Amino acid sequence: MDFSHVKANLEEVNLRISHAARKAGRTVSDIRLAAVSKTFPPDAVLAAHAAGQRLFAENKVQELAEKSAVSPNDIEWHLIGHLQSNKAAKAVSICALVHSADSESLLARISRIASETGKVQRVLLEMNVSGEESKFGIGSEDGLFRILDASIQLKGVQVEGLMTMAPFAACESELRRIFSSLRILRDKAWEKTGVQLKELSMGMSGDFEIAIEEGASIVRIGSLIFGKRAAKPQTMP
Ligand SMILES: *Cc1c(COP(=O)(O)O)cnc(C)c1O
Repeated sequence: MDFSHVKANLEEVNLRISHAARKAGRTVSDIRLAAVSKTFPPDAVLAAHAAGQRLFAENKVQELAEKSAVSPNDIEWHLIGHLQSNKAAKAVSICALVHSADSESLLARISRIASETGKVQRVLLEMNVSGEESKFGIGSEDGLFRILDASIQLKGVQVEGLMTMAPFAACESELRRIFSSLRILRDKAWEKTGVQLKELSMGMSGDFEIAIEEGASIVRIGSLIFGKRAAKPQTMP
């Protein structure tokens, strides 16, 4: 595959991010771009890296492990897909930030594993704001408060914010409602539990400008940078 288009795509995405930030009266440097390289080979990561991108995200731990092993070591890797507890150790050994923690038992496990290596794992809690049954994530405000309260006792994890995914087919007003709900929930949970929830991970290729207007601090963008993904995940070369 040819990834010569990646540099121009990245420039375009960064331009659109700064426009959206300006429109919302926000500081551009408060918004980070996570380049979602899932299903694309290490050459795609290299092309984006050569164009200056340093933050990459994957949704599967195995693919993350394989790709990070052959990529430049100044890359910051994030996990954005569902984390099974038996993959937690591998994820902890690689990830700067896990966006997709969604239960107290998973947090406890991450904390135990991280503590063993002297690490404090930064995590976000994934919220299912839209109520779609097919989605992972914490489904209720009370559930979130409970998990945040429990996390305070866990020395090996630091919860730093919330993450959500909007439905693909949602219209603009629905997207706005979902993203603003996550921001309002974050404000409320921060105030109630004292956990400093600075990060809001929301917005993908189709909806990141709306997410930025509604307060996103990390946008996760794949196809606008790397191109259309194959319908089925490709195996690693
Ligand atoms: C794949 C993925 C993205 C990026 O999706 P694009 O539409 O390609 O930008 C963002 N977030 C999560 C959780 C993903 O799995």
